[in-house]
Amino acid sequence: MRAIATLLLCAMGGFPMSPVESHLDRQLKTWQRRLGMDDWRLTIRLVRQNDLDKNTWGNAEWDPKGKTGTISVLDPVDYNLRGADLRLDMECTIVHELVHMQVAPFDAPDENVREDVVNHIMTALLNRACPN
Ligand SMILES: [Zn+2]
Repeated sequence: MRAIATLLLCAMGGFPMSPVESHLDRQLKTWQRRLGMDDWRLTIRLVRQNDLDKNTWGNAEWDPKGKTGTISVLDPVDYNLRGADLRLDMECTIVHELVHMQVAPFDAPDENVREDVVNHIMTALLNRACPN
């Protein structure tokens, strides 16, 4: 899950990214390369807790045909973590959502099964446990 909906302010181009968003965008590009998703046009945005499902830290919406999408990450303001743990956990969300996009064609109908699969792959890619 780690995930929710959209506003697309950054995608509109009229709004400069905050330093945190720029950092996340660089991480997103790095992970896209690593996962062979260079040809996807993905944007990242920070969202408040109200915009996310309870107990989630992010969300994604994507169009597999157009290879476009938006990854929403919980704003640090609403986070339960600080410092290095916060930065790592936000990266975990990016990887988690990218894995969702990649495994979507094989998705199990059961959401818990899907989340388990995605979290196992995410942890393997990051090679360490995520704080949340
Ligand atoms: Zn998930």
